[in-house]
Amino acid sequence: MIILKSPDEVDKIGRAGRIVAEVLQELKSRVKPGMTTLDLDRIAEEGIRKRGGQTAFKGYRGFPATLCASVNNEIVHGIPSKRRLQEGDIIGLDLGAIVEGYYGDAAITVAVGVIGPEVLRLVQVTEESLYRGIEQMKAGNRLSDVSHAVQTHVEAAGYSVVKDFVGHGIGQALHEEPQLPNFGKPGQGPRLRAGMVLAIEPMVNMGKDSVRVLSDHWTAVTEDGSLSAHFEHTVAITDAGPVILTSNNGRV
Ligand code: MG
Repeated sequence: MIILKSPDEVDKIGRAGRIVAEVLQELKSRVKPGMTTLDLDRIAEEGIRKRGGQTAFKGYRGFPATLCASVNNEIVHGIPSKRRLQEGDIIGLDLGAIVEGYYGDAAITVAVGVIGPEVLRLVQVTEESLYRGIEQMKAGNRLSDVSHAVQTHVEAAGYSVVKDFVGHGIGQALHEEPQLPNFGKPGQGPRLRAGMVLAIEPMVNMGKDSVRVLSDHWTAVTEDGSLSAHFEHTVAITDAGPVILTSNNGRV
């Protein structure tokens, strides 16, 4: 069942979402070669707490950290560690916060120092595909119209969308119905309605779409070792169109 949210509930998700957006901005500005992903996790936890939120991922199904930090060929769910970031890496930063029992969830992929043009293009196309999807999050559209818009943009650029992980409804739980794949034919699935709140999160591989999960049971990597990027927003569907709830001055 898809749970519709009242304006008051959307407001609470938005408060959690703004915390996520601000902390992601802070992380982006502080990512540097030589830092560890655990350093970033500490910044993330402190950033959420000092803004009055609670961390959403720590303890979720046993996940040990506040931040998912996924470097290079890691797609999602990387566990922060003593790994040091190197010039030219890319890192996916996925963060969730809770305010008054409501969740916000977003992700960005950022460059560590200077990255090559081919890598930059992967990151840019992934972010663009997020916004192509959001444009379709209009009342009256079907859910898979969103999925199709993401897939079309990604594949036109010569990349592949990950099929094993999908976006999701969000509210008083981190993951609610419906699942929101980043691929599919248009015109299918439930009709979008005002009051739905969805986390849309394209994961895009430079190579093939196959995924492998490491022995830590969390870190998902590309099977072929190719680079992967990830962007996510929590979005409310309103009669006036989609409203990004994890935005800091419009965009993260
Ligand atoms: Mg998510």
